[in-house]
Amino acid sequence: MTHKALDWIPEELDALEAGALRRRLEPMGTAQGPVVELDGRKLVNLCSNDYLGLAAHPRVVRAAAEAARRFGAGAGSARLVVGDFQLHHELEARLARMKGTPSALLFSSGYHVNAGVPGALVGAGDDIFSDEWNHASIIDGCRLSRAEVKVYRHRDVGMLEELLAGSRARRKLVVTDAVFGMDGDAAPLREIVTLSERHGAMLYVDEAHSTGVLGATGAGLAEALGVTDRVDVMMGTLGKALGSFGAFVAGTRPLTDWLVYRARTFVFTTALPPASVAAAIAALDVMESEPPRRARLDALTIQMKAGLEKLGFPMKEVVVPIFPVILGEEARALEVSRRLREQGYHVKAIRPPTVPPGTSRLRVSLTASHMPEQVEGFLAALRGCV
Ligand SMILES: *Cc1c(COP(=O)(O)O)cnc(C)c1O
Repeated sequence: MTHKALDWIPEELDALEAGALRRRLEPMGTAQGPVVELDGRKLVNLCSNDYLGLAAHPRVVRAAAEAARRFGAGAGSARLVVGDFQLHHELEARLARMKGTPSALLFSSGYHVNAGVPGALVGAGDDIFSDEWNHASIIDGCRLSRAEVKVYRHRDVGMLEELLAGSRARRKLVVTDAVFGMDGDAAPLREIVTLSERHGAMLYVDEAHSTGVLGATGAGLAEALGVTDRVDVMMGTLGKALGSFGAFVAGTRPLTDWLVYRARTFVFTTALPPASVAAAIAALDVMESEPPRRARLDALTIQMKAGLEKLGFPMKEVVVPIFPVILGEEARALEVSRRLREQGYHVKAIRPPTVPPGTSRLRVSLTASHMPEQVEGFLAALRGCV
């Protein structure tokens, strides 16, 4: 087989290479952690979303192993068929309690939530109002819903208000990331809550980067701002601060009942494996019993922000341990990333289409397991590269 019909692909890949836009996979030789092994070398890892350092925490790993031993490696079916385990319900109850909502519903990933939930809430003839920098999965879910998507400028509540005021749609849905994953900045959630209420719109907030990291109990930005019961649909992932895999929607009981029936990305996919579910439950246990992890992460975040600001990178808007070191051209971001790697620091260059052209960057992130010396070492290395 020559697959001649696929000949256009190598050409496209060559063009990406020429534009410093080619992306490649790099298998790690170790568990997620502050130091990982890549290509046989130990590197300080500054690009993980394992914010609380729970992905390889012994209690979390043990819970996953025990659940696998007892309930098997795979769920074997969708939840509505024969893949519904007690563990799923236990985790849903725990997540609802953490979020302060009456109910929660697990999905197979945050991507599944965002791809499927908008379409369960709105359809043709309805309007969605979406921040221009919302996560790719939200953009895809909005498109799949067939509602009309009105994109407002990043965090621009004035523009959101105009769009809402001009809408004659039957149903309206406002959707925003709580914290934006490439810049670490927060949505003006209080204002968005008020506007959504004033215009009778449903409000959908993606707490992927804020769950476990913001709020008194780690429930996220809505908790931090005291607006939890004014957000209609809250989603979070288990794959970032909770160190596992999977995701959830938190909200009212009728909402989750409706999603069980109507969200296609819930109905038509295999349930989360028992090990992932048990790992997330253990992660919640660790979060509740080891609050110093949050305090350590907050201290490291202050240290990193101050150091980067000293190097001339604005960090004023950063509210989570995500630090955008914006370098501009794609090739420059790649070059700085390569030089840092030579010195033992792994920070990926983030380029278009993930970020707008001309804003290629290092997306630096921290976990509670990093050491202050690793932050200092990185800042010194970066100083020599920019
Ligand atoms: C990571 C992320 C998702 C996707 O979550 P997964 O569980 O990794 O699929 C959704 N939204 C935002 C804002 C994210 O950062």
